[in-house]
This record gives sequence, C-alpha cells and structure tokens, in this order.
Amino acid sequence: LFIVFEGGDGVGKSTQLKLLHENLAEAGHSLVLTREPGGTGLGEAVRGLLLQAHSPAGDMLHISDRAEALLFAAARAQHVEELIEPALQAGKIILSDRYVDSSLSYQGGARGLGIDRVRQVNEWATDGLVPDLTILLDLPVEAARARMRDRAAHADRIEAEADAFHEQIRQSFLALAADAAERYLVIDADQDPAAIARVVSRRVEELLNR
Ligand code: C5P
Repeated sequence: LFIVFEGGDGVGKSTQLKLLHENLAEAGHSLVLTREPGGTGLGEAVRGLLLQAHSPAGDMLHISDRAEALLFAAARAQHVEELIEPALQAGKIILSDRYVDSSLSYQGGARGLGIDRVRQVNEWATDGLVPDLTILLDLPVEAARARMRDRAAHADRIEAEADAFHEQIRQSFLALAADAAERYLVIDADQDPAAIARVVSRRVEELLNR
C-alpha cells in the first residue's frame, strides 16, 4: 500500500505522517516512512541542492524552473526504483511526505511550466506508479504562514514567495484532488492534529480491510 501526504508548506504533513506511522506501527504493520525530495542518497543530495538554491544565499547556485522540475523528477525516479517499488513488493506500507502531485502543483502550476507537461515527465520517471491514497491537507495561505513563522528553520522559504504563489499551489492541489477523487482524501487542516489523525486513520483502515 502506497500512501502519500500532499499540501503546501506549513499545512502539517510531517506531523500527520508521524501520527499515522505511530498508529500503524502500534497495530503491527511493516512500514517505510519517506519523503520527497529525499528518501534515497540521490534524493537527499537533490534536496540539498534545491534548498541551497532557494536559501537567502541562493545566488551561489542558480537552478532554472525546468531544471528544477527535472531534478525533482530524477530524484523521484530513484526513489521509486530504489525504495518504493522494493518495499511494495515486500508487502510493506509506504508513507511518503510528497510525491508527483507536489511537482504538478509547484512546478506545473505555481512556476507555470504546465501541469500536463510536468505530468508527462513524471509518468516516465515513476514508470506510472500512482499512490493508493493521497491525503491532501488543505489550509489557507495565511494560516500556513503563521505556522511556518513558528518554525524558524523554514521561515525564509515560505516568506520568500508571495501569497499568490502559495495560493496557486493550494488551488492546483484542490483541482488535482477533484480530478482524482477516488484516490484522494481532502482534509481541512485547520483542526486539532489529533482530529485530523482520526480522519486519516479511518480512511487507511478502510483501505487495509478492502
Ligand atoms: O515539504 P518540504 O519542506 O520537505 O519541502 C522542501 C521545500 O521544497 C519546500 O520549500 C517546498 O516549498 C519546496 N518544494 C518545491 N517543489 C516541490 C516540492 C517541494 O518547490 N515539488
């Protein structure tokens, strides 16, 4: 079973991933917890490059929008081949912080490269692997900003982009979810984390009992 958490910066993906991981581990499931960009040696190296390019000292490294989209796709190709597919073959549950739909929303939507173009590249990169469930944590940009302000390490990244950029990401995710409603669970993220975790767990249990 392949489960992905999606959403903009500051919506609470990492927190929910951790809570679901705890719940499933307690129930005795065999799990793999991973993230994008990341999850493999190459993925973490690409993450380092992207964060460097987006940091306040980013003038040391310039990455164009197309190059960025391809770097995400390259990291994802490695992620699928090295980690996700083998874990699926072994019957494990994979929980990932972001996957293809992040690229569609950030690079395709907000950066303006076009959702269909970025989707094509990613279909090839992933050999067509689609999650069994994608959980979209949806939060208005202002609320996400407020949360990020409390997390000093991440503050620059969300501060660096205008509200319109983050709103575009949010709307792109909502449109993707509406187009693939059968594999999406959209949750209002402006709730107590424990309440969100209960909604997530209920849906995952349904999938496990299918
Ligand atoms: O979610 P996480 O904090 O790990 O993401 C790292 C950074 O990469 C964030 O600033 C996020 O906005 C950015 N990102 C991106 N395009 C993606 C995925 C993440 O620009 N496809």
